[in-house]
Amino acid sequence: MKLILGLGMTGFSIASFLNKHNINYKIADSNNNPKLLVKYNKKFPLCKPILGKWDKKLLIDVDEIFISPGIEKTQSIVVWANNKGIPITSDIELFSRYANAPVIGITGSNGKSTVTKLLADMIINDGKKAVFGGNIGIPALDCLSSEVDYYVLEISSFQLDYTNNLNLLAAVVLNITPDHLNRYKCFDEYKNSKLSLYKYCKYPVFNLTQSLNLKNNCAKYFTIGLAENHNVFGTIVKNNIVYLTKGNDILISANEIKLIGKHNILNILAALALSYQIGLNINNVLKSIKSFVGLEHRLELFTSKKNIDYYNDSQATSAIATISAIKTISQKYKDIVLIAGGTSKPENYSELYKIIDKRITCVILIGKNAYDFALGIKKTKILHAKTIKQAVYLSNGIITDGAILLSPACASFDMFDNSKHRGDEFKKCVLNS
Ligand code: ADP
Repeated sequence: MKLILGLGMTGFSIASFLNKHNINYKIADSNNNPKLLVKYNKKFPLCKPILGKWDKKLLIDVDEIFISPGIEKTQSIVVWANNKGIPITSDIELFSRYANAPVIGITGSNGKSTVTKLLADMIINDGKKAVFGGNIGIPALDCLSSEVDYYVLEISSFQLDYTNNLNLLAAVVLNITPDHLNRYKCFDEYKNSKLSLYKYCKYPVFNLTQSLNLKNNCAKYFTIGLAENHNVFGTIVKNNIVYLTKGNDILISANEIKLIGKHNILNILAALALSYQIGLNINNVLKSIKSFVGLEHRLELFTSKKNIDYYNDSQATSAIATISAIKTISQKYKDIVLIAGGTSKPENYSELYKIIDKRITCVILIGKNAYDFALGIKKTKILHAKTIKQAVYLSNGIITDGAILLSPACASFDMFDNSKHRGDEFKKCVLNS
């Protein structure tokens, strides 16, 4: 008998999969009323979930546990299962057992969704069938299909923590910066979790701009970030124009790319290197790069009114993402109003405060940690808003020319369902203002 832990999107997808394959299971959640309960009971009325505080009895007759990534290793049920030697498996590992086409894995602290979607576009432009999923919002098991040439999987560190085996053709760890430090004992533990992805892949792609102490002992690898030898995807600058290169060959000029920012150049280089690893035609790959406009809620220029451009970067939930956004758009605008705040993470925000002081005209703070942020910012004018609507209202009165940027550097759960909800609300308020 299998035990599914967690009745969220992942647990629901595992239940659907096990049902489809006639595999016996029980499902449990420590929450008495998980969000998907009604949907689950409607679809699977014969296998009622066991809800409420974890109970040791759940483990009786269980030979394997499939776990949702949200459940921490320190939770009692995980500890009991480990003591009893019951294997605990992630949904991506289960997916990998059944995937009938090569899988490409993408992880990192930032840029995962962007690279996942871009690589999927590249594969499709090359005339092949690509399906993307995983941490990007479509559970991996829901992606399984008999008519796929490549799966592109966005993978989180939480999923990797419960993974013992994967079969990846190619993989990249895009970058590792402090994140989720409420869940890991220290940065090194988080870093090792991310780097474990390389254990499972044939063709790795390494980011040389990060010092990750990698042992480059793989048979075939590509790197991004430096243009030193023929295995490297990098950049050069000629006559003030940035070009993306492979070794000494120029592939494309940054002027032909719609995505903005240095961080996105690295994301594109990662997708390029992966596309090379899996043998896509370079001309089709370059076409995809030229037409890729990026994903919603990631440094998304969604409207302009009078002389003001509005950017929705609601997915910026860490300091580094907001720093990247500020660095990028401050090259274009003299005056920027930043809307930031929410539930901050246990990370060091000092670099963010410095760049706000240097490049932001006014910052409007929202959410739970607004007053902590206010203490860090020394020079830039600060306003406080109770709602996103009020933040938009205030921001409209501050500058007559420039950009208004929502890039919170914080999680959204204190005021919104998730980052998407936060971005949608921001856009609605701007468009109605
Ligand atoms: P993820 O899936 O890892 O959360 P996304 O592609 O959804 O990454 O982007 C999330 C946020 O991080 C956005 O604000 C985006 O602009 C920013 N971002 C994307 N790539 C990078 C990068 N390489 N370095 C820093 N920030 C990035």
